Amino acid sequence: MKFRCCNHILHSINFMLKYIQTCNELHGGEIFYSADDEKNPPDCEEIMRRRNQLIENCKNGIYPERCKTCPQFIEQEWEDNQQITKLSIFHWLHCNCECEYCFQAKHRKGSTDEVQKSMYFDAYPVLKEMHDKGYLAPADKFQFEIGGGEVAILEEFPKLMDLMLEHGFYYAYVMSSGIAYSETITKMLQNPKTRFSVTISAGSREVFKRIKKRDKFEQVKENLKKYIEKAVDKTKVCVRYIIDEGYNDTEKDIKDWIDTCEEIGAQFLEISLDFCRGFEKLQGQPYNPHLKELVDYYLKECEQRNENNHKFYYSVDRTSELIFERGYY
Ligand code: SF4
Ligand code: SF4
Repeated sequence: MKFRCCNHILHSINFMLKYIQTCNELHGGEIFYSADDEKNPPDCEEIMRRRNQLIENCKNGIYPERCKTCPQFIEQEWEDNQQITKLSIFHWLHCNCECEYCFQAKHRKGSTDEVQKSMYFDAYPVLKEMHDKGYLAPADKFQFEIGGGEVAILEEFPKLMDLMLEHGFYYAYVMSSGIAYSETITKMLQNPKTRFSVTISAGSREVFKRIKKRDKFEQVKENLKKYIEKAVDKTKVCVRYIIDEGYNDTEKDIKDWIDTCEEIGAQFLEISLDFCRGFEKLQGQPYNPHLKELVDYYLKECEQRNENNHKFYYSVDRTSELIFERGYY
């Protein structure tokens, strides 16, 4: 049937800090559950009812206000299947570090090492019901991502991941600070469809402390080493670097990070601009050309090391590439 809609409305569900909603795009999408408005925990059937109603409304030309101006809200033939194919889980913000560039950090006070529940609601009961009732697409069409907050200190992380492993998926993306070692992450890395990333953003203890406000550089290196050793596909463990101007933006900083990657046996490196803060504070502003020079230095350095018998798989974050292409944040 032809109507105005988007893939997120038809196929995604996002568990955000206080909301369960269609998407986490800048436009925000439609909200099916809001911890601000509702005293009870989220109810699976009610979420599905609201979701179905939203799709029916789109079919009948009643469009959600926030979607009307979104470039993804387009008129085309959409398939009848409305199963959830993409799940995002970001419904807490506790973390064991305080990255300078973290857009969640402003919502919380400091860091913690304690395992905690989400402040607003648990995701597991809703997702278990979605799984049991067949609302999630089968494994060959289903993907999910989980970040936060720090997964290793989320109380329901082990059972959430057991549920996802039981359901099956063709792609999973798990993010962690790497500060706490997690057996659950090691278990996820036994599935070659899991991509795991730690954004270390440093190649020395000093820079790590400057960015993350924790003296845990060596511990993260040790944990990463263990994850890489135990992963069935080592190229799925991504060691990332977000360039934060004034904190880790020299060629030496980048070189130290690549050296660290070599030392711990990392095979997959990715570099990124600080687009979280960029989007919030610098929208429409030109980026500093020095950042592109640093990214070019990284690409050249990896290329040279690969010529010397290394086997790095290295990339630039897609959003950063887009920023370079268009010339501004
Ligand atoms: S149309 Fe845009 S804002 Fe609305 S759900 Fe889709 S991606 Fe999100
Ligand atoms: S590790 Fe992630 S969630 Fe934690 S402070 Fe850094 S950016 Fe924020």
